[in-house]
Amino acid sequence: MKRFGIVTAAGESRRMGFDKILTPIADGECALGLSVRAMLRGGCEAVVVTGDASRADYVESRSFGAPVYACPGGDSRRASVYSGLSFIRDKLSPDADALVAIHDAARCFVRPEAVRASFLLAEREGGAVASCPMTDTVYSVASGTPEAADREKLRRVQTPQTFLLTEILRCHEAADPLLTATDDCSLFIHCGGTPAFFDGGSDNVKLTTPEDWEAAKDRLRAVCRVGTGYDTHVLAEGRRLVLCGVEIPFERGLLGHSDADVAIHALIDALLGAAAIGDIGALFPDSDERYRGIDSRILLRETMGRIRAEGYSVVNADLTIIAQRPKLRAYVDGMRSRLAEDLGVPVSRVSVKATTTERMNDEGKEKCISCQAAVMIR
Ligand code: MG
Repeated sequence: MKRFGIVTAAGESRRMGFDKILTPIADGECALGLSVRAMLRGGCEAVVVTGDASRADYVESRSFGAPVYACPGGDSRRASVYSGLSFIRDKLSPDADALVAIHDAARCFVRPEAVRASFLLAEREGGAVASCPMTDTVYSVASGTPEAADREKLRRVQTPQTFLLTEILRCHEAADPLLTATDDCSLFIHCGGTPAFFDGGSDNVKLTTPEDWEAAKDRLRAVCRVGTGYDTHVLAEGRRLVLCGVEIPFERGLLGHSDADVAIHALIDALLGAAAIGDIGALFPDSDERYRGIDSRILLRETMGRIRAEGYSVVNADLTIIAQRPKLRAYVDGMRSRLAEDLGVPVSRVSVKATTTERMNDEGKEKCISCQAAVMIR
């Protein structure tokens, strides 16, 4: 059965004082981007974002590697979700059903595994709701005498909340329009459904207060990872010299199975190292005829596909090319812009430096050119 996601992104952010959904949290991604990517990694084949024109602009200006649609929200959360559900209904053939995971953009730390778990459970049980146990003791103070509730029987409800499209649409249409439901689980129960609860994780928090925002910034900073790479190729007659995708006029070039772009090879190893997913030799073996003479930028872009599939993006990259000759300074800007394009970052986040070894070592004797690379990903 097809799997869709709805990310509700209305939110007035009253308690935050600024737009918590689109403001970058820490050096990059905003809550909406994080939520959409988690939903896609959790198995949604497409995601519908409900909200105003600013949300639509955001969705249209980004590439997510899978279909992400923007759809106007309504006056209430319930109306926005209904709008998203109707949008998906219109995409399907009349007799087809689908599973729909409904998620609040402000819960931007949802784990893809939780989304996936919700689909599996909803397929079996009809409805699946992320939740977590109560850790605090809870008192009811409605009557004169405060009364402790049995916290073993209580769950704090989160999103995603996942249902069969036809079922949850029926609930939205059947329930009293005046019923203000703060979530879809309550509508589902109101219409006679019994959802299954599963553990969404205590870190699946909703960004609500300025304290949540500060914690989110710390958390995103904490998931940065660093990687290093190193490569050397021999200088030989009759070969082109290509460094960082730029062909450089020189009497010799680098020897190798591919175009022997030693700088991109070091960068690829740094990326793979940062994500701990192997090395260039394992990914693109030089025994493979497909890679004979290949432009190393193609390999870099393929590597970035793997990095993104792991959920990472690049923070910055820094390369040091070690060559006695030729002088590389005039080519550095072209190198930086090509790498930035392939890494999907602004040029300001890519550094390329060149050094000689004062005529010492094999680089200094012009037998080879080497490169060291360091990258940070998050
Ligand atoms: Mg190499």
